[in-house]
Amino acid sequence: MANVIIVGGGAAGLAAAFALKRAKDGGNPIEWMLLEKDNRLGGKILTERRDGFIIDGGPDCYLTEKPWVGQMAERLGIADHLLSSDDDKKKTYIYSRGNLHELPDGVWMMVPTKFTPFITSPLFSWPGKIRMGMDLIVPKSRNIDDETVADFVKRRLGTECLEKLAEPMIGGVHASDPYRMSLKATFPRFLQMEQKYGSLIRAFLAARRKAPPPSTKAEAPKRTYFTTFQLGMQEITDGMADAAGRDRLITGAKVVRIKAGGVKPGYIVQTAVGDSYAADAVIVSAEAHLTADIVADLDDQLAASLRSIPWTSAATVSLAYREEQIGQSLCGFGFLVPASEKRKISACTWSSTKWPGRAPAKHALLRAFVGGAQNQHLVDQDDEEMMRMVRSEVRDIMGISGEPAFGRVFRWVYGMPQYTLGHLQRIEQIDSRLRDHAGLFLCGASYRGIGTGDVMNSGEGAAGKAIEFLVGKGIDYAEMASGRETDMPR
Ligand SMILES: Cc1cc2nc3c(=O)[nH]c(=O)nc-3n(C[C@H](O)[C@H](O)[C@H](O)COP(=O)(O)OP(=O)(O)OC[C@H]3O[C@@H](n4cnc5c(N)ncnc54)[C@H](O)[C@@H]3O)c2cc1C
Repeated sequence: MANVIIVGGGAAGLAAAFALKRAKDGGNPIEWMLLEKDNRLGGKILTERRDGFIIDGGPDCYLTEKPWVGQMAERLGIADHLLSSDDDKKKTYIYSRGNLHELPDGVWMMVPTKFTPFITSPLFSWPGKIRMGMDLIVPKSRNIDDETVADFVKRRLGTECLEKLAEPMIGGVHASDPYRMSLKATFPRFLQMEQKYGSLIRAFLAARRKAPPPSTKAEAPKRTYFTTFQLGMQEITDGMADAAGRDRLITGAKVVRIKAGGVKPGYIVQTAVGDSYAADAVIVSAEAHLTADIVADLDDQLAASLRSIPWTSAATVSLAYREEQIGQSLCGFGFLVPASEKRKISACTWSSTKWPGRAPAKHALLRAFVGGAQNQHLVDQDDEEMMRMVRSEVRDIMGISGEPAFGRVFRWVYGMPQYTLGHLQRIEQIDSRLRDHAGLFLCGASYRGIGTGDVMNSGEGAAGKAIEFLVGKGIDYAEMASGRETDMPR
């Protein structure tokens, strides 16, 4: 039998664990175990239930067009728990000059595709609208080297679009500063659209024409752009943990070192409490800056490359109110706050409108975002200060009266990888160092996509590579068995 150790029990690590379990059940001679430093599994995916409210502390949904979460839900038998957003109320607001302005109908990401709502919107100035329209005539770039998201948006749609739409929308997804984000690493599709259509507006119009008409079949499940789970996002990580088998998922086990050892090629994985595990392959799904500490003894250059990926801190603050306390209609998914407005929150999701069932009747659940690349110092505040700050922000912006029934702060210190300019070169360096360490695989949000689906796909991919490495190379399992320091459960 070959042993695989997985480090980290977030969505990526759990997806890898479940893939190894399926491989083992399918007759492959593989044993595996997952070591997670925290006392819970799920990593950034964390749902709490309180007084009839369902509160997601990390991601509250996934992008439906990325198929991996939906496919996993099917495989786990929980596809009937998938929950579409309430798109009858799908409106987004942008905070600008003291007011919430509805994002004009037809704006996709940051690109206007419907003339009348765009031209009549008070959100943009006339010069700003004309500049955005010039996307139709601005020639495509002949230089296809990487550039920042900010440079790209300014080049195609102008500065006002960058400040009012692109920065809060696409910078917000990554909790990143568009002036530093790599376009190729974060939104390569925009570059492809520019190259193919010569204009983002033309590209989005073409995509709209090609979109299949809405299904007329009564039984067809409604799939909205965003999807979540009825009981919160943690349904997917709980489902993977149950299916993988919790007896092999060890919590409270912080890995401090991976070193070469055992029967070569092989590794010894050591934990903070002094346990060591021999492994023929190791999959590390921990954040890159923490992975760097773990592999530093094995390869200091690999550690340096991993440390070169910057991280930022963010927090979500969820507040539970009675509907009558909210001074305005909650018909919408929430609002975004451009950094240029210099407020202390960057967005607020009206969770109980977006997702049916997130709050009891006549109550509202709001979820504000704090921190990110431009404001990460705000995450250093203690819970009480942060709650006070967020309450004051939503009171001011939305006209809320009184205090919330309760609030919850979820802090993600250095929890958001930043795919800044040069990210793809950093990934190449990491891949190149990994070539010297057969059987060591990395996955998770640090590398090739931060969305829940991306990281699950990366975890399954790492498991696939480990299986191919172990089973495909015809190792001598009898010999391997003698090199083990700590045995795994059979
Ligand atoms: C506030 C917030 C909102 C988000 N919103 C969305 C969203 O709406 N939609 C979406 O698709 N994505 C969203 N994301 C991104 C997404 O949640 C993450 O990218 C994804 O969950 C990361 O999964 P992962 O397995 O790669 O990493 P993690 O979940 O970070 O898991 C890594 C695990 O490794 C463990 N670990 C670290 N070091 C060690 C060690 N030494 N030994 C053992 N274990 C270790 C950690 O404790 C952790 O459990 C959001 C993220 C945040 C923070």
